[in-house]
Amino acid sequence: MVGKGLALCRLCLSGTSLEDVFEATDMNDLIFNLLAITITKSDSHPSKICQGCIKTLSDFRDYRERCLEV
Ligand SMILES: [Zn+2]
Repeated sequence: MVGKGLALCRLCLSGTSLEDVFEATDMNDLIFNLLAITITKSDSHPSKICQGCIKTLSDFRDYRERCLEV
């Protein structure tokens, strides 16, 4: 498994356009709600995610909310 010190996306292992999960607003909650993945500061995996995954997650959140409104 990928170690914490590496600057890689937690979700897709991309190494570009990374943001810290704990600094991006609500990102950790979003990941938990949509993917059922819990990211904690003490686990041994990277705590960064890339812009591509952020976009995918927010698109998916919008999609999910639309589904819930039907
Ligand atoms: Zn990614």
